[in-house]
Amino acid sequence: MNSKSIKSIAIIGGGYTGLTAAYELSKYSNFEITLYEASPNLGGLAGGFSLLGTHLEKAYHHLFKTDKDIIQLIDELRLGAKLLWHKSNVAIYYDGKFYPFNSPMDLLRFKPLSFLSRLRLGIVLLYLKKKKNWQKFVNVSAYDWMGKWCGREAMKVIWEPLLLGKFSKYYKEISMAWLWARIHIRANSRARDGEKLGYITGGFDVLTEALQSKLLKQGVIIKKETRVQSIKRDDKTNEVILTFDNGEQRFDKVIVTLPSQVFAGLIGTASVSASYIKKLSSINYLGAVLLVFASDQKLSDYYWHNINDLGAPFLVFLNHTNLVPCSNYNGKYLYYLGTYVPHEHEYFRIGENDLTDIWFRYLKQMFPEFDQKKITEKHLFKFKFAQHVADLDYKNKIPDYRTPIAGVYLANFSQIFPEDRGTNYAVREGKKIAELLRSDLLGKSDLV
Ligand SMILES: Cc1cc2nc3c(=O)[nH]c(=O)nc-3n(C[C@H](O)[C@H](O)[C@H](O)COP(=O)(O)OP(=O)(O)OC[C@H]3O[C@@H](n4cnc5c(N)ncnc54)[C@H](O)[C@@H]3O)c2cc1C
Repeated sequence: MNSKSIKSIAIIGGGYTGLTAAYELSKYSNFEITLYEASPNLGGLAGGFSLLGTHLEKAYHHLFKTDKDIIQLIDELRLGAKLLWHKSNVAIYYDGKFYPFNSPMDLLRFKPLSFLSRLRLGIVLLYLKKKKNWQKFVNVSAYDWMGKWCGREAMKVIWEPLLLGKFSKYYKEISMAWLWARIHIRANSRARDGEKLGYITGGFDVLTEALQSKLLKQGVIIKKETRVQSIKRDDKTNEVILTFDNGEQRFDKVIVTLPSQVFAGLIGTASVSASYIKKLSSINYLGAVLLVFASDQKLSDYYWHNINDLGAPFLVFLNHTNLVPCSNYNGKYLYYLGTYVPHEHEYFRIGENDLTDIWFRYLKQMFPEFDQKKITEKHLFKFKFAQHVADLDYKNKIPDYRTPIAGVYLANFSQIFPEDRGTNYAVREGKKIAELLRSDLLGKSDLV
C-alpha cells in the first residue's frame, strides 16, 4: 500500500455484483467501504418482495448446476442447506397446444415440426452441446446460422419466436456466440435423469440478507435510497468525487456496477473522451416487465412455458410452484408472466390494469379454465435495464474493468459474454473486480 494505508472505496449498486465486490473487499481491514444503492432494497434484478409470509423474486430466478461461483458463495455464507435442487419441467406453447420439451425423446415427438426438421434440430443441438470453441460464432448472426442449419420450419416454430421474444427489434442481430452459450451451458448442466434447477428456500432475498448482515458486520456502510448523480475525478487530490441530491463524497477508489449506458450518463465528456461515451452507449439494453400472481387454481403441470407465438403479448409463463412446492406459500399457486421490451414500448407507459387485461386475455386463451376470481394477489414489476443486447461485433463493445477515469472501475453484466447475464456471473464479476482493485493497490501486475 502507498502513503495512506486505509483506502476509502465506494461501490455503486447493491445488486449481486456490488454486494459480492463489497463482501470480498470487506474481508481486508485496510479498506473503508461504502455501498450506495438507489432503491430502498438490495438485490437489484434478483431482488424480492414479501408475499404469503415469505419472499419471492420480482423476476423469476433459479440456478443451474454449473453456477459454481454463486453456489460457492451460498456455501461460504452457510446457506447450503437452503439451496434445494428441484426437477424442472419445460413446455413449448405453439399453435394453441403445449408440448413437453425436456429431452431428446420430447424433441423426436415434437409434432409441429416434420420428422426431418426434428432430426436436423436434434443434430444442431447436439453439435452445439459438444462444440467448445465459440469464437468463430462471434460475428455470425444467430438468426442466419440457425436458419442455415436448422431450416425454415424450425426457424418459424422455435428460433424466431424465441429470439424475437428475448431481443425484440434486435432479434436478427444477435451473435450466435450468445445462443451457443445458452444451449451449450444448459445442455451440459443437465443430468442424465433430466434437468434440476436450484432455488434458495425463502427466496434469493435470504442470500441478499445474509450478504447484507456480513457486510454490516465487516464494517461496510450501506446507503440505500441514495442515488449517485455524477462521478468525476479531482486530479489535485487524486480522489474520485461522487455527487448526490444532497452533496458530495470523496473516495480513493470507486467500483461502478451500473449498466454501461447509465454509467455513461454519470461521467459526461468533461472526464472522458467522446469516443469512450459512445462505446458505452453503443450497448443496447432491453427492459423486462413481469406480472406475478398467486392463485387458488392450478393451471399447468409444467414449470416453464416458452410461448412460441409471434402474436403473444408475453414471452414466458411460469408456474413457480411446479418448481418449488405450494406448501412453501400457504398452499397457493404462484405464477409469472414476463417479457423483454425496448424502453419506448407501450408496456412502460400503460397502467397495471390495462397491461393485466391484455395479458390475462391471452392467458385465458392458453388455459380456458383460467379464472381471475381465484387470484388472491398480483404484483407488476418493470425493470428498464434488464438485458443487454449481445449483437454482432459485441466483443468489441465490451468496456474494460479499468475506466479512463483513474481510480474508477466498472463491473457490470454487459461485460459478460458469450454467456447470458445471471447471478452466478454477477458473483464472479464482483469477485474479479475486487481482486483487480486490490492488486492495483498492491502494485501487482494484471490479475484479470
Ligand atoms: C427477467 C429476469 C430473469 C432472470 N432470471 C435469472 C435466473 O433465473 N437466474 C439467474 O442467475 N439470473 C437471472 N437473471 C439475471 C440476474 O438477475 C442478473 O444478472 C443479476 O442480478 C445482475 O446483478 P448486477 O449486480 O450486475 O446488476 P443489478 O442487479 O442491475 O444491480 C445494479 C444495482 O444498481 C442500482 N443503481 C442503479 N443506478 C444507481 C445509481 N445511480 N446509484 C446507486 N445505485 C444505482 C440498481 O437499483 C441495482 O440495485 C434474471 C434477470 C431478469 C431481468
